[in-house]
Amino acid sequence: MSIHVEFVSPERVIFEAEAKEVIVRTSDGEIGFLPGHVPFVGVLAVAEARIHDADGSTIHSFAVHRGFVEIADDHCTILSDVAEAAADIDRARAEIAQSRAEEALRASRDDADAIAALQRANVRLEVAKKA
Ligand code: ATP
Repeated sequence: MSIHVEFVSPERVIFEAEAKEVIVRTSDGEIGFLPGHVPFVGVLAVAEARIHDADGSTIHSFAVHRGFVEIADDHCTILSDVAEAAADIDRARAEIAQSRAEEALRASRDDADAIAALQRANVRLEVAKKA
C-alpha cells in the first residue's frame, strides 16, 4: 500500500510520487500520513514537508510556505503557492533574508513582516541542509 502524492502550485506540478509516508506541519501541528489514513484537510504552516518514497529509498524534503493538504483514499494533495525543493533553495539568498529580518527585528521587535520573513528564511535554511 502506498499514497499517491501530488504536490502542486496553481501553475504546475511541483512533485508527484508514490509514498509510504507524508509528513507535513499544519496549523494544528505536525502530522504524518501513512497508507489508509482517514480523510483529512488541513492548513499548512510555514515548515518542512517530507515525502518518503514508497520503495523506502529517498526522503524528499520541501520548504512549504503556505497552502493546504488534503488526503483521502490514499491520494494526498499538497497545494502551495510558495514551496521549494531542498535542492532548489538558494542558501545565500535565504541567509541575506534572515539577516535582513533579524536587523528589522532589532529595530522593532513586533514587526510582523520581519517575523514572517525570518520564519521563511529559517525553514529554507533548515530544509537546504537536506539537499
Ligand atoms: P526574499 O526576501 O529573498 O525574496 P522571501 O521570503 O520574501 O525572500 P517569498 O516572497 O517567500 O520570498 O518568495 C518569492 C519567490 O522566491 C517564490 O517563488 C519563492 O519560492 C522564491 N524564493 C524565495 N527565497 C528563495 C530561496 N532562498 N531559494 C529559492 N527560492 C526562493
